[in-house]
Amino acid sequence: MTDPKLPAAPPGLDPEDWPAFRATAHRLLDAALDKMEAAREGRVWTPFPPEMKAAFSQPLPAQGQDEADLASQLAALLPYGVGNTHPRFFGWVHGSGTPQNLLAEIVASALNANAGGRDHGAIYVERQVISWCRQLFGFPETASGILVSGTSLATVIALKTARDARLEFRSRKEGVEGARLVGYASAEAHACNPRAFDIIGLGSDALRRIPVNDAFQMDTGALRAAIRADREAGLTPFLVIGTAGTVNTGSTDPLAELSAIAKEEGLWFHVDGAFGALARLSPKHAERYRAIEQADSLAFDFHKWMHVNYDAGCVLVREEPHHRHAFSDRPDYLKGAARGIAAGNPWPVEYGPELSRGFRALKVWSQIAGFGTERLGAAIARNCDQAAYLSSKVAPDPRFELLAPARLNICCFRLKADGLDEAALGALNEEIVIRLQESGIAAPSTTKLKGRTAIRVNLTNHRTQESDLDLLLTEIVRIGGAVLAA
Ligand SMILES: *Cc1c(COP(=O)(O)O)cnc(C)c1O
Repeated sequence: MTDPKLPAAPPGLDPEDWPAFRATAHRLLDAALDKMEAAREGRVWTPFPPEMKAAFSQPLPAQGQDEADLASQLAALLPYGVGNTHPRFFGWVHGSGTPQNLLAEIVASALNANAGGRDHGAIYVERQVISWCRQLFGFPETASGILVSGTSLATVIALKTARDARLEFRSRKEGVEGARLVGYASAEAHACNPRAFDIIGLGSDALRRIPVNDAFQMDTGALRAAIRADREAGLTPFLVIGTAGTVNTGSTDPLAELSAIAKEEGLWFHVDGAFGALARLSPKHAERYRAIEQADSLAFDFHKWMHVNYDAGCVLVREEPHHRHAFSDRPDYLKGAARGIAAGNPWPVEYGPELSRGFRALKVWSQIAGFGTERLGAAIARNCDQAAYLSSKVAPDPRFELLAPARLNICCFRLKADGLDEAALGALNEEIVIRLQESGIAAPSTTKLKGRTAIRVNLTNHRTQESDLDLLLTEIVRIGGAVLAA
């Protein structure tokens, strides 16, 4: 019986016409699949056109759109990605995704699970993923972990855990004033590391940037000297960060040696393995990444070299109690129980800063379960072979100059031109990369290595073929000629 005092019910948010909605949904699914099936066709990057920008600059709508119009507007977005699903996207470090992941996303969205805690399927799927990660990286069965948006947040969680463990968790209430903690990473370490120092209240200056050798790896002699100098100055060293796969060149720090130094000095050993740690999936490369097993914590991404569709990263912590003590606060309304929905302890909320969180674990589970480690590893090994292939083309060619040894999956080089000084050569190579991106033919990015501007080709793309790299070089020469002629 309805309460006579209540007004007529508004329509709610479910479809009014389910058969029509179903037909629309199937059409949109087909449009998404068409886009994915044609990943190799068309332009790499297409700038968002003015009419699309206008369509997404509307005032706040009081009235909703018609369902079919809305679906058309959604489908209209499909051509305008950054290009990372295309085989000739070589910029930054982007994964290229898989159509298979779409299926997991459909199920995750239909479930609309909140994976912050409680006793339901998503919690067990995430535990399975974490358990697989422990196996993959040689962490003990007692290690903890949580899925997050990416390595940036994973790093914040790992470093806060290291900070709090060092200060016996007093820092959680008292803050870090007077603690004078300092840590160490190479000059080539990713910007998310100093930013994590900033976020956890230590300040980015407290992360010492240790110089690198000619192979862009941390100079361990300089590391020892820096630790000594900081101790003599009355500071408290607490952490060493080793990078497995730097963004600039793909170099990997001497992880076993860093682990030994950390042990000797009583420091937490964290590994930033955003993409490089996944090289453990390739038997040919795994040995170089063995010492990840000795890390106290590891941050890495699924959305880069495991090609899980954005976004998904992970942090693993060797000592579970440290991890939990750095984050767990269970107010009364979130208390666990032995039975009922509030069971299923421990909850993910005890291992990170988020309470409500989506079901990221399903797409990761589906990627690993669907392809298996061998096939995922074969795609990684192929990318490494492609970087070596590109390097073997560039190195002996007098038109080019290799700017760093091709490590892992990254090749950095530039087009040369007679009579240009360093600045002009840098401007030429910057312009080539922008024109390549604007042409829609290919999308590398740039970086600076020892003050020189490099065209940076990163291969974390399971769709790339050798012919794509050949085309890239041909186009660089062609565009470079056109820029110089103008
Ligand atoms: C990409 C990357 C990061 C940051 O990871 P996000 O997933 O983008 O947050 C950190 N370190 C390295 C080495 C990276 O390549």
